[in-house]
Amino acid sequence: MNKLNAAFFDLDGTIIKDVGYLSDIKQVEIIQDSLNLILYLQSNNYKIFVITNQSGVARGYFDLEFINKKHEYINNLLLKQNIIITKYYTCPHYNEPDKVINKKYLKNCDCRKPKPGLILQAASSFNIDLTKSLMFGDKILDIKAGEAAGCKSFYIQKFFNIPKKDKLKFYENIFKDILK
Ligand SMILES: [Mg+2]
Ligand SMILES: [Zn+2]
Repeated sequence: MNKLNAAFFDLDGTIIKDVGYLSDIKQVEIIQDSLNLILYLQSNNYKIFVITNQSGVARGYFDLEFINKKHEYINNLLLKQNIIITKYYTCPHYNEPDKVINKKYLKNCDCRKPKPGLILQAASSFNIDLTKSLMFGDKILDIKAGEAAGCKSFYIQKFFNIPKKDKLKFYENIFKDILK
């Protein structure tokens, strides 16, 4: 069976605006520049995954039920632009006893970025070729997680504020050798 090519995206600050421990659906604001990039990748047969640290669960700011509700809400917004997130992978853990309220999630886990655990989980569940896959995020921990998993990794900021008329050319130049 042929392996899948995947594009992994961080969530906060990458697909939606980073408001810091988003705890109300009304705070969700999509970053359109990222959706344009996702559309381009989808049209080049990349499956889209979200890889997100949500230590707010461990810290007691919100629960996994809220996270699922948020993802459903985002999915509905993205679907209007024909974007499909194949799966969301979330790390709810945090390893600082003083800050963790929900002790179930007090853990030095393998899934919190910069560790590549969630990407590796996705790769094994979906038979993904990591050497042909991509990671996008707004922080160094995203880049580190992507690289540790063997993916080409990019700061999403690189794709912001490109004039519409230059967009396609810009994408093509960056991905010339990767998207084949
Ligand atoms: Mg982020
Ligand atoms: Zn974790």
